[in-house]
Amino acid sequence: MTETKNSKEYQICKQCIMDTSDPDIVFDANGSCNHCTNSIIRLNKEIFIDPIIKKHNLDKLINNIKQDGVNNKYDCLIGLSGGVDSSYLAYVAVKQFGLRPLAVHLDNGWNSELAVENIKNIVNSLNIDLYTHVLNWEEFKALQKAFLRASVIDIEMLTDHAIGVALYEVSKKYNIKYFLSGYNYQSESVMPAKWLYPYKMDSLNIKDIYKKEGDGGLKLKTFKLLNFYQYLTFGKNSMALIPILNYLDYNKKEALKIIETQLNWRNYGNKHDESIFTKFYQDVILPQKFKIDKRRAHYSSLICSGQMTRDEGLEEMQKELLSQQDYKNNLSYFLKKLNISEGEFQTIMDTKPRLHWDYRSFAKRKFKIGKLYRAIFK
Ligand SMILES: [Zn+2]
Repeated sequence: MTETKNSKEYQICKQCIMDTSDPDIVFDANGSCNHCTNSIIRLNKEIFIDPIIKKHNLDKLINNIKQDGVNNKYDCLIGLSGGVDSSYLAYVAVKQFGLRPLAVHLDNGWNSELAVENIKNIVNSLNIDLYTHVLNWEEFKALQKAFLRASVIDIEMLTDHAIGVALYEVSKKYNIKYFLSGYNYQSESVMPAKWLYPYKMDSLNIKDIYKKEGDGGLKLKTFKLLNFYQYLTFGKNSMALIPILNYLDYNKKEALKIIETQLNWRNYGNKHDESIFTKFYQDVILPQKFKIDKRRAHYSSLICSGQMTRDEGLEEMQKELLSQQDYKNNLSYFLKKLNISEGEFQTIMDTKPRLHWDYRSFAKRKFKIGKLYRAIFK
């Protein structure tokens, strides 16, 4: 296969809808990109396998979870954001597999009212316990503002880091060995590496960004950060992370129908609109400042798994992310909540993006140690 690195000219994949908004995209001689090519290989290897083998693997897994948790109040943890994937996951865990999950939710201050209501309905319909970890708003606000000023791409890293820590602590407290994650390859296989910072538990990165870009007025007293040893050993030997939806024939449209009818779940309209921050981040900050429209990766994933056609994906991309009125409303809510002036917001949006790597990081330290180790012992 002859591969050509993209030039600056615009190009869109002929198989999915990824394009040169990913600076690292590579197209083959037929015009297919690295994302869908790799996704389809992995889907065929891991997802679209013999249904008998798939069922066997799933049964074995569920049995292990049940057996290991037989003496515990809960046999697994699930994260509950109120979005489609996690809501459906809660449904199958209880109704299909007969598991006894403890649902964990992180309240970072940005839940939409509908998300709160959806979570309440899910928990009531399934009769499961909910543990809500509430972040200290003043600290979280100061952290988000520091990340905005730093102009790094992954502001959601703060939420992901906090969820990671909360899950880990709850698993210890209740001696729960399995975390059923809503991550699924069917709708999330395409994601360019540069569209996020993959080292979500990199506490040093968060600490350094806060130190350099925060306003210095508030000490982080409750937002838990890991030390280097905890970073290296995070999640090891404690809790197994199971992307359970990958074991099922997960179909987003069907999942949506089930949670609507069975859990009184109501639709937000778009992916991730359960969080007002995530919505603003994906509809305004990413496209306007970083020139990234995450829908492109999401629809490409669905195209790869056969849940959307390429034409449907292209048509969806024509739709406005936000109407002018929605933009105005969301912007004023966002500025008021974070206590940012319009002027400062404009400066943030105009500042050239910087890399997470420009700040201190545990990930960088780990690579350096690994390199040194290999140089000595090779
Ligand atoms: Zn492609």
